Amino acid sequence: MRLGSGTFAACCVVIEVLGVALFLRGFFPVPVCSFSGTEHQTESPAPEPSAGAISNWTKLPPPLFSKVVIMLIDALRDDFVFGSEGVKFMPYTTYLVEKGSSHSFVAEAKPPTVTMPRIKALMTGSLPGFIDVVRNLNSPTLLEDSVITQAKAAGKRIIFYGDETWVKLFPKHFLEYDGTTSFFVSDYTEVDDNVTRHLDKVLKRRDWDVLILHYLGLDHIGHISGPNSPLIGRKLSEMDSVLMKIHTSLLAEERETLLPNLLVLCGDHGMSEAGGHGASSVEEVNTALILISSAFERKPGDVRHPKYIQQTDLAATLSIGLGLPIPRGSVGSLIFPVVEGKPMREQLRFLHLNTVQLSKLLQENVPSYRKEPGFEQFKVSERLHGNWIRLYLEENNSEVLFNLGSKVRRQYLDALRTLSLSLSRQAAQYDVYSMAAGTVLVLEVVALLLLCVPQALSGKAELDVPLLSPVSSLLFYLLLLALAALHVVVCTSSDSSCYLCSLPWLAAGGVMVLISTLLCAVVSALTGMFAAGSRLSKNPLPSNSRWSELDLLILSGTVGHVLSLGASSFIEEEHQTWYFLVNTLCLALCHEIYRNCFVGDDCAPQRCPHAGEEFDGVAAAPQGKSTGPDVWELDRASKHPSPLEALRGPERWMVLASPWVILSCCRLLRSLNQTGVQWAHRPDLGHWLTSSDHKAELSVLATVSLIMIFVLVQKRCSLASKVAMAFGLLGIYCYRVAVGNLLFPWQQNNKDISKGITEARFVYVFVLGILFTGTKDLLKSQITADDFTVKTVGLWEIYSGLVLLAALLLRPHNLPVLALSLVIQTVMTHFVWRPLRHDAAEVTVMHYWFGQAFFYFQGNSNSIATVDISAGFVGLDAYVEIPAVLLTAFATYTGPVLWAGHLVNFLASEASRPAPETQASGTLYLRTKLTSTSMDGVKASIGFWSKKARGGSRCGGWASALRPLAPGGLHLLSALQTATADPWLPQLQAC
Ligand SMILES: [Zn+2]
Ligand SMILES: [Zn+2]
Repeated sequence: MRLGSGTFAACCVVIEVLGVALFLRGFFPVPVCSFSGTEHQTESPAPEPSAGAISNWTKLPPPLFSKVVIMLIDALRDDFVFGSEGVKFMPYTTYLVEKGSSHSFVAEAKPPTVTMPRIKALMTGSLPGFIDVVRNLNSPTLLEDSVITQAKAAGKRIIFYGDETWVKLFPKHFLEYDGTTSFFVSDYTEVDDNVTRHLDKVLKRRDWDVLILHYLGLDHIGHISGPNSPLIGRKLSEMDSVLMKIHTSLLAEERETLLPNLLVLCGDHGMSEAGGHGASSVEEVNTALILISSAFERKPGDVRHPKYIQQTDLAATLSIGLGLPIPRGSVGSLIFPVVEGKPMREQLRFLHLNTVQLSKLLQENVPSYRKEPGFEQFKVSERLHGNWIRLYLEENNSEVLFNLGSKVRRQYLDALRTLSLSLSRQAAQYDVYSMAAGTVLVLEVVALLLLCVPQALSGKAELDVPLLSPVSSLLFYLLLLALAALHVVVCTSSDSSCYLCSLPWLAAGGVMVLISTLLCAVVSALTGMFAAGSRLSKNPLPSNSRWSELDLLILSGTVGHVLSLGASSFIEEEHQTWYFLVNTLCLALCHEIYRNCFVGDDCAPQRCPHAGEEFDGVAAAPQGKSTGPDVWELDRASKHPSPLEALRGPERWMVLASPWVILSCCRLLRSLNQTGVQWAHRPDLGHWLTSSDHKAELSVLATVSLIMIFVLVQKRCSLASKVAMAFGLLGIYCYRVAVGNLLFPWQQNNKDISKGITEARFVYVFVLGILFTGTKDLLKSQITADDFTVKTVGLWEIYSGLVLLAALLLRPHNLPVLALSLVIQTVMTHFVWRPLRHDAAEVTVMHYWFGQAFFYFQGNSNSIATVDISAGFVGLDAYVEIPAVLLTAFATYTGPVLWAGHLVNFLASEASRPAPETQASGTLYLRTKLTSTSMDGVKASIGFWSKKARGGSRCGGWASALRPLAPGGLHLLSALQTATADPWLPQLQAC
């Protein structure tokens, strides 16, 4: 079957996506859940164990608190309360923590540290899977058992103010609610005022039992300007006064009621050093949790060492506090200090209820639960508890009773801890079967791709895919049969749930057909290769020795990077790989330039300027292009004497200096943003610039960067675009001033800040204008086919429109990244690529490397926490999903996208230089661009589970091994294809 290489690549991408999806489905563990339907409401609570004696405690214990107020501050990291910032900005809370009647903890949130899964964890006590990150965007109604549903069923009246996510999760549970959308990140005052404005009224009312407040402002400040922003302190003081208001009001009311009230101050997740959240760094995971109630004992003095607990423990504690059954899916254990002041019999009763619930959950999720140590401990403590009750009812000696009671309590606490731990571990079970199927699919496609490279590189850009013959072959049917048998065996024997087995037979069969077809295709492609000729296999790299060092570096660097992704730490610290590669590339270029200039290049004859051999590269190229190496060789040979010889004066010096200029730019950019995992907390220039004391410096830097951007970008555009660009950049500065990031020289520091909607929209108008002009020029060049300058101008205008958009979206301290990226592009074009006549393949790979390096220079990493979502809200005054997602994606991938754009433009303008009649097939370049961009998409999506892989998962190797292969192979293929498959390229090299 003959396929165009485009169709073939598209099919491969589709199958790859399918394979990766299957793998991910298996990799994301199915959360621990309770299967016992909805009949729970009628299920009676476990009676007190009594060892023969008659106990009358068969009902649930009565509530411990009359009113509960949950004050959830989004992204309340532990040190915002317990650290120096807390002492400075939250005096009342600090007083309560140190001397008041309260219990304070550091509650550890499980990744993904994103709001919706965290709210679920707080209210259900269960561990949501990573799949919830995706659902975070569109939170569906929560069907699991939770404190809220139990409270509603028990007739408690719940009032909610704050993040709308709650209303989506619990649509019919609140007596009264007022939700605020959480996606509008750039607003951090109104979201909170919207909650606080209800407080005065609601605190005076008596018609509620549970009040939930979710404050979003702190999280939004984090997203906008990070945890070191001066706004954080202001927000913390505001939260402190809110807490004081609630607490005093609750205390005043307590005098009239019998039971005390409970005030819970908590965070849903922390905040990374960059201000985001989502991954598993200490800053993102640790949150503050303070339980305040007059029922607790007042502390003697300074006690400031909060204990570590799990975030999931709150659900069980709240249930007990409100006299409700513990949610069935909860894996948390009761926070014991809360019930410590109660009589021993009640304490044991609470602990018993919690262990019974956990052991039930264990029975439902672990087939071999009897062997679990937690279950054994539970049985032992239940027996001891029974004995204690009997003694208690017989009214024995109180000291003996107390000692035995303490022993039972200790046993229970141990059992709780062990049960909770083994249940949490259960949540990290992988569906190995689906993962294996996905991996096999991906590997087969990669093998097929690699086998097809020589064909794809041939001039026709068409290849023969051995698909039809395998379908009719015996091997195919045998394989299919074997796979079906394997499927039946796996699905009937495994006791854990498996995604592939849960699929309908037809779908599972489709996957098996796909796997066997691909395997047959690979086998027949292999045999075809051996049969057709041993040219490639016997002597695979005949011209290897004639490759320049730069080619070798590029090849080994790309392959090395792909291999490095087999280890999860290399994924976490991927920026180091790219920085290393880019620096090495600069040194190699330096070497090449100096050799060309001074030594005369006798080690690489094909590059030698004095060789004098006349080689008819143009004529020979189309026939000679059968395999990769040949083409490279021809490209080399077709080079005319180096123009370096002809360069004199300043230009020659610029060529000599250019690698050093690029190296120093890279060094500068590197210190701008610390990224990765290991060293992300280190101080960097970005932090220094964004702190409020250095606004003037930041303003100067931004101004210089904007001017540089203008100078570098405008030169190839039409006059109208130049003017639009200038206004656009001016608008960007005004926008940043309005938002409060920058200053005008005549301005005071503490001026009112706004959302800058008008300014941002002003810039958008120019972005759209420039993009429109560029597109118009491009279309015009399509109609008048010979007008190549118009096409180039059109491409450059689109590029400058994108640069303008990037300048608007990037945070002001990242403007130098954009400016220096343009500097490097200009220097490379004028002093490296053109004088040294690098071929398209080399230029493509270099662009790819720089694009990747700039992704990390921006401060990004493979962790979801570094995605700057505030970029999605520039110029929007309400949350609009599609533009917000598009803008965020563009801002995140600015580096790779701009470098890919530059590649298209560079190659197009090089093509247009010598021979106007050639038709540069822009589609191929666009494909390269798309492939590299989609590759980054896959990488980002996989980024956050690489985090997981680090957390002691068994399948880290699998995960990371899978990641690079497919896209890396594809990219290489398309890069090589780009470089060689186009008919106009030999002419380009000959120029
Ligand atoms: Zn949150
Ligand atoms: Zn957030």
